[in-house]
Amino acid sequence: MNKAIRKAAVIGSGIMGSGIAAQLANVGIPCLLLDIVPRRLTDEEAAKGLTLEHPPVRNRLAASAIAKLAKTKPAPLYDPSFAERITPGNLEDHLSQLAQVDWIIEVVVENLEVKKGLLEKIESVWKPGIIVSSNTSGISINAMAAERSDEFKKHFMGTHFFNPPRYMKLLEIIPGERTDPELVGFMKGFSEKVLGKGVVLAKDTPNFIANRIGTYGLLVTLKEMTENGFTVEEVDAVTGPAMGRPKSATFRTLDLVGLDTFVHVANNVYDNVSDEKEKAIFDVPAIMKSMVEKGWLGEKSGQGFYLKK
Ligand code: NAD
Repeated sequence: MNKAIRKAAVIGSGIMGSGIAAQLANVGIPCLLLDIVPRRLTDEEAAKGLTLEHPPVRNRLAASAIAKLAKTKPAPLYDPSFAERITPGNLEDHLSQLAQVDWIIEVVVENLEVKKGLLEKIESVWKPGIIVSSNTSGISINAMAAERSDEFKKHFMGTHFFNPPRYMKLLEIIPGERTDPELVGFMKGFSEKVLGKGVVLAKDTPNFIANRIGTYGLLVTLKEMTENGFTVEEVDAVTGPAMGRPKSATFRTLDLVGLDTFVHVANNVYDNVSDEKEKAIFDVPAIMKSMVEKGWLGEKSGQGFYLKK
């Protein structure tokens, strides 16, 4: 297939979107990083007399995500100067620019309706040939694209990166029922050769493969911990370095992933399975729901299972 990814657009500049944009920049692919327009001014913006109409305010979410890349550890960028390959913006003002890229990656919140709305917007400017993919952790690829045209569906698939994208080799590629198999083959080759990923093709089942197994493990751990009175530190002591996993102990991982995202991902299986035993496992424990209600989302909010240092 005569295709190449010369320029990309990442939509959603949170934990994953910024990390994916950094990984593209690392391999020399310039990309747009787009987010929503902020609803409020910061105190600093107000003091400078800026309004919600000023571009620096409108592009602030993605711009501050790029600025954060230099401070994030482990470093998402091979070299801090590669941040220049990422252009920040907001989707509202830059929608038409999506027609000038080869690959658009959707990396917004884990919510079917939000993702469907975004795909509708993308299709309004999309040109055949542009690959569109979703970084969803487990929402159905077919459901997301259900209202899109057949031509669009041919170009749409899941490309599920893991956190942090620079360091996690695994990439799940999830074709939808209409995805062009040649494009799937192209993306597999590109992801392996250019992005350095280990690709696993997964079916469009709730949470695909890695998060079906991983979410299950984390929820069982949380339930066993609360029922048996284990502490967060004890569980992390046996599921981290002592087990040969250098950093990724259970609760440190949850703080990194984001508790809100984890709850969405677990609910996605809960809502889509009928077996009562399986439902009982994927029913998120009250302790985690109450942490999310309090805004304890992990590292992104400064409070999760651990206080952020
Ligand atoms: P996040 O909460 O850190 O960031 C989401 C970003 O999307 C925010 O900056 C938000 O402002 C933006 N956004 C929301 N609606 C938007 C819209 N309509 N248009 C443009 N931007 C919009 O979330 P995240 O952890 O980066 O997760 C993003 C996606 O990646 C989700 O689907 C999630 O399930 C998936 N994912 C997350 C992880 C993880 O470890 N956090 C790992 C793999 C996959």
